[in-house]
Amino acid sequence: MSILDTGVRNVRNVLRYTVGEGALSELPKLLAARRSEGTYSIVFFIDAFFKSQPDIIARLGITSDDKTVFVATEEEPSTDAIDQITIQLRDIGFAQPCAIVGMGGGITMDVAKAVSNLLTNGGKAEDYQGWDLIKTPGIYKVAIPTLSGTGAEATRTCVMTNKRTSLKLGMNSDFTVYDQIVMDPMLTATVPRSQYFYTGMDAYIHCVEALAGNYRNAIGDAYSRETINLCRQVFLEGDMMSPLNRERLMVASYLGGCAIATSYVGLVHPFSAGLSVVLGLHHCVANCIVMRAMQPYYPKEFDEFWKMVEKQEVDIPEGIARNLSDYQYEQLYASTIIHQKPLTNALGEEYRNTLTKEKVTKIFKQM
Ligand code: ZN
Repeated sequence: MSILDTGVRNVRNVLRYTVGEGALSELPKLLAARRSEGTYSIVFFIDAFFKSQPDIIARLGITSDDKTVFVATEEEPSTDAIDQITIQLRDIGFAQPCAIVGMGGGITMDVAKAVSNLLTNGGKAEDYQGWDLIKTPGIYKVAIPTLSGTGAEATRTCVMTNKRTSLKLGMNSDFTVYDQIVMDPMLTATVPRSQYFYTGMDAYIHCVEALAGNYRNAIGDAYSRETINLCRQVFLEGDMMSPLNRERLMVASYLGGCAIATSYVGLVHPFSAGLSVVLGLHHCVANCIVMRAMQPYYPKEFDEFWKMVEKQEVDIPEGIARNLSDYQYEQLYASTIIHQKPLTNALGEEYRNTLTKEKVTKIFKQM
């Protein structure tokens, strides 16, 4: 039997969402409904970028009973960092808040998911790296995405790296899925253009990989196709950051998240993971760099991707893996080839025959 099936199990989606310019104004009302049920306090995880945006913070309805944790996003979360935050919250009396809010990009939304699960399940973050290991529902949680593309607001996992084992694996569980998301495109108006492009492309690339894969199903395909349609509108028609396009990309991010939940990625993500692990590049920019070498594998989408880059006038770093040491190419090979499921989806079970060490090195040198 294959290591992959159709990808569809008994899927749980986000319970509720609200979307549109001004949606953020509904947050205090949504939270007030939770506050009346027993405990009063709420923990807010907010991307550290918003420290300098007091007018946005003021709209969240934070009270003196609540705790705000600003999340630094230079590095993707480690299991140790998640444990530390959880211990600190327990120590200062926030063991059982009535809600957790995660406002930011993928990193911040993932930290909120992980802490929500840990507060109710006990133990350490690494105990839950894997599939369906969470036994008790987490604290009720709300996501407010402020970057569009990764789909973290929609998925049943949260990316975490275990520094001792080098295992990058989340808490894959129905309990990791958000109870509520608030999608307000006003929040992405101030994102730097290149970051907005790289992150948005994560949604596009996920779905390109899924639709080109060997393991497909009708619902995953439907989510993927519409995500790609929206990305085409955003990145090929007019300014990608117009108010309408920011709303479209927010929806594309959500649908793209639903798509990955029911399908597999392909070649781009394993190579991108190599760049992240060995050279420390952020996930979304790493994906775009990998696209430099993807013409043989995704020819039509390769052309479309570079048309989008040109149209939106963004820079994709070049030459990043061209002159590395033999040891670094070994590491790159190892951290790419380890991604068995996506590579099987893209190339079949004998993918190691195609992706030899020489071939993988050659592909990295093209970036
Ligand atoms: Zn991705």
